[in-house]
Amino acid sequence: MMALDPDLARTWLTTAVEEARASLAEGGIPIGAALYGADGTLLGRGHNRRVQDDDPSVHGETDAFRAAGRQRSYRGTTMVTTLSPCWYCSGLVRQFGISRVVVGEARTFHGGHDWLAEHGVEIVLLDDPECVALMTDFVAARPELWHEDIGDDAPGR
Ligand SMILES: [Zn+2]
Repeated sequence: MMALDPDLARTWLTTAVEEARASLAEGGIPIGAALYGADGTLLGRGHNRRVQDDDPSVHGETDAFRAAGRQRSYRGTTMVTTLSPCWYCSGLVRQFGISRVVVGEARTFHGGHDWLAEHGVEIVLLDDPECVALMTDFVAARPELWHEDIGDDAPGR
C-alpha cells in the first residue's frame, strides 16, 4: 500500500471534524470518524453518541464503521478519527483488518495507535490544532463526561 498523501489525509480529517462538531452541537462528546475505501470513496461517517443514544458502545469509529455497512474486505481501508483510538476501537481496527488509521491528535488522549503500528497498521498522526482545541475545550467544560467516556473508573485499565 502506498503511503498516504498528507494533503489527502487532512482532507479526509475534515469529514471527521465535521462529525465531531455535529456531536458537540447535539450536546455530545466531540469525537468524529470516517471510514474511507481503498479507492478513496467515503464508506461511512459518524460520531460518538454516548450521550445522544445513552449508549457507551457508540464511539466515533464504531459509528462510522456501522454506517459503512458490510464490506467484503477492509484491506486498504482507512479509519480517520479526530482522536487517538481507544482500546475498543483499536480492537475493531485489528479485528476487521483495517489497513490504516489517520489520527487527528493524540495529545489529549493517547490510545492504542502505537499498538496498532506494532501490528502493521499504518498510522498517520496529524497533530491537528483544531482537533486538539475541540478536545481541550470539551474536557475543560465537561470533565465528568470525558472521564466516563474513557472509562477512567473501569477496572483493569
Ligand atoms: Zn473508541
